[in-house]
Amino acid sequence: MAAQILDGKALAQELRAGFKERTAALAARGHKPGLVVILVGEDTASQVYVRNKVAACESVGLYSEKLVYPADVKPVVVLDKIAELNADPRVHGILVQLPLPAHFDEAAVLEAIAAEKDVDGFHAENVGALAQGNPRFIPCTPYGVMKMFEKGGVDLSGKEAVVIGRSNIVGKPMALLLINAGATVTVCNSRTRDLRAHTRRADIIVAAVGKPRFVTADMVKPGAVVIDVGINRLPDGRLCGDVDFEGVKEIADWITPVPGGVGPMTITMLLANTIEAAERKAGI
Ligand code: NAP
Repeated sequence: MAAQILDGKALAQELRAGFKERTAALAARGHKPGLVVILVGEDTASQVYVRNKVAACESVGLYSEKLVYPADVKPVVVLDKIAELNADPRVHGILVQLPLPAHFDEAAVLEAIAAEKDVDGFHAENVGALAQGNPRFIPCTPYGVMKMFEKGGVDLSGKEAVVIGRSNIVGKPMALLLINAGATVTVCNSRTRDLRAHTRRADIIVAAVGKPRFVTADMVKPGAVVIDVGINRLPDGRLCGDVDFEGVKEIADWITPVPGGVGPMTITMLLANTIEAAERKAGI
C-alpha cells in the first residue's frame, strides 16, 4: 500500500492563517513583528530563499526588510549593522543568510546576533538551550519537521530514529529534537559504515544529505516514516529530494514529497519564531 503523504504545503497554509491573527493582535498593541534578512553576495539560490522569506513575512503582516551587501564587503560592516539591529526595537528577528563568503567567520557573525533576536536558532546560547531540552528558538527546518510529525500523529517516544546528516542547521538540531521527544536516535554521516543497516531498523528516517534520491526502498523498513529534507536541482531543472519518492512510498507508512514537504514548513517556522520573539518582547 502506498504511504500517506505528510503535506507540508497544506500544513504551512494552515499555520500561516493562525499567524495573521497573532500578528494583527501584536500590531494592535504597537508591536508589529519585524524581521531583517541579511544577504551577502550574489549566490542565486540564496537570493531566491531571501526573496521567499521576505514575501512570506509580508503575506502574514510582518514588517520585513532585506539588506544586501556585495560579496567583498568587509565583515565589520555587517557586524556593525547587526549591532545596530540588535538595538532597534522595531526588529524582533535578525537572519543572516548562509553560506557567507569565505572571508567571513560565520560563527562570529551568528554570535553577534542578540540571542533573543536569533530567529534561526543558530546562536550558541540557543543551541545550548535546545540541547538542554529547554528550547527558545528552534532552527526552522527541524522545527518544521516536528510540526509535521505532530500533524501526522506520529508518536516519537520509544521509536528508533535515524538522521542522515550532521549539519548544524539540520542534522544536529533534528537529532536533539528527536532525543528530547524520547526517540532513540542515531546520527549518520559520510563516514558511517553500513548506512543501510541503520536505516533498515529505523521507525523514522530523516534524510538531510544533499544527494538526489539517495535513500532507496531497499534501505527502508516497511511501515517507516520517511522525512525528506533534501532539495536538489536535477540537470533538467526539476527539484528532487534525498529520497527516491516513487520507490520508498511503496514501503513507508508516511512520506514527505519534494517539493511541497519540508521546504514550505521551513519558512513557516521562521515566521513562527519571529512572531514568538515579538510576543516575548511584548510580554505576551
Ligand atoms: P550539509 O551541510 O552538506 O550536510 C550534509 C550531511 O550529509 C553531512 O553531515 C554529510 O556527512 C552527510 N552525508 C553526505 N554523504 C553521505 C553519505 N554517503 N552517507 C551518510 N551521510 C552523508 O547539508 P545540509 O545543510 O544539512 O542540507 C542537507 C540537504 O537539505 C540539502 O539538500 C539542502 O539543500 C537541504 N535543505 C533543505 C531545507 C528545507 O527547507 N527543506 C533546509 C536546509 C537544507 P559529513 O558531515 O561526514 O560530510
